[in-house]
Amino acid sequence: MPTIIERDLHMATGDGENSYTKNSRIQEKAIFQMKPVLEEATREVYTAVLPRTMVVADLGCSSGPNTLRFVSEVIGIIARSCKELGVKQHEYPQLQFFLNDLPGNDFNNLFELVDQFKKSTTGNRQGEAQPPACYISGLPGSFYARLLPCQSVHLFHSLFCLQWRSQAPGGLKGTGKTHQDKGDIYITKTMSPSVVKLFQQQFQKDFSLFLKLRYEELVFGGQIILTFIGRKYEDVFNGEPNHLYGLLAQSLQSLVDEGLLKKEKLDSFYLPIYSPSVGEVVAIVEQSGLFNMNHVKLFETNWDPYDDSESDVVQDSVRSGVNVAKCIRAVMEPLIASHFGETILDTLFKEYAQRVAKHLEKEKTKHAVIVLSMKKEN
Ligand code: SAH
Repeated sequence: MPTIIERDLHMATGDGENSYTKNSRIQEKAIFQMKPVLEEATREVYTAVLPRTMVVADLGCSSGPNTLRFVSEVIGIIARSCKELGVKQHEYPQLQFFLNDLPGNDFNNLFELVDQFKKSTTGNRQGEAQPPACYISGLPGSFYARLLPCQSVHLFHSLFCLQWRSQAPGGLKGTGKTHQDKGDIYITKTMSPSVVKLFQQQFQKDFSLFLKLRYEELVFGGQIILTFIGRKYEDVFNGEPNHLYGLLAQSLQSLVDEGLLKKEKLDSFYLPIYSPSVGEVVAIVEQSGLFNMNHVKLFETNWDPYDDSESDVVQDSVRSGVNVAKCIRAVMEPLIASHFGETILDTLFKEYAQRVAKHLEKEKTKHAVIVLSMKKEN
């Protein structure tokens, strides 16, 4: 039996207006931020190992264009490294990419994009150097399980995924919440300490397992680059995701108040998410004793994916509210629809957009994003 997460967690499918494909700009912007880390890690692995076939896996690739941006970046980095090292064209490594996500992911849409990508990269390049040969396969399965053979992977990458847990914290579901926690779907200031602890323990368990599995799959000299939504401050109650999901919880509550949603439905729902601080991440990597950390840093990006300004004021909070709601809908829709039913979606995200707009009027809020790169030493 697949777990709830394996069945229901995936981004909005297809390429319509509400799809992930059309609403993944936050993630796209993060690629630009982490590019230098990717460049350094990819070059280091290639020059240290000089594989004939370089195996690269993108974990949690989803079904939008970002995974192919990543593929394209890696091809470019390897081509430049080969040129600089004076590697002859016929000695270029072959690149084998595995695009991984949960089985519910829209792999059909992804494969269409792969096909377009291949066509666009194998055009007529008379006189130009050919890029390294590249083979792309889909790999369905949870990254909280083994995905690939022992010591077979040179580079792992994962963008905006590791905030997702393997299950709701400590398996909390369908049990009804205590009076204190009614209406909460993520950590709040008033949440019972025992439930907050379950969220944290679920993260520690999942992340340690993830590191152990990837260590087994990596070759010596291989590297991992992880970019995911974290928390700027150590205080678990003082996180940007707490606001983001708190507003979603309030929107769900208002549907309960209006009689559009059964109270029991909200009482049995927790988000399978935890956004850690840099300190929490580093502690687990160090505890595992498996990797040498090359980089760890945190950057911030506006909640509204289309707001590229540095200013502390939101220009058009109504528009920003709609933009944030679209982006969160593309990520949460299948999970929310499977628990609460599809009929509430339009009303819920309209309500959510309004609440986000009100919040942004008072305070321009940003996502805190952690970028981490690690190496499996010889
Ligand atoms: N990397 C993509 C997608 C980010 S959205 C991009 O940057 O655009 C997060 C993705 O992680 C979703 O597609 C979700 O299905 C996937 N995901 C979450 N938990 C997962 C797990 N345990 N195993 C594999 N994929 C997972």
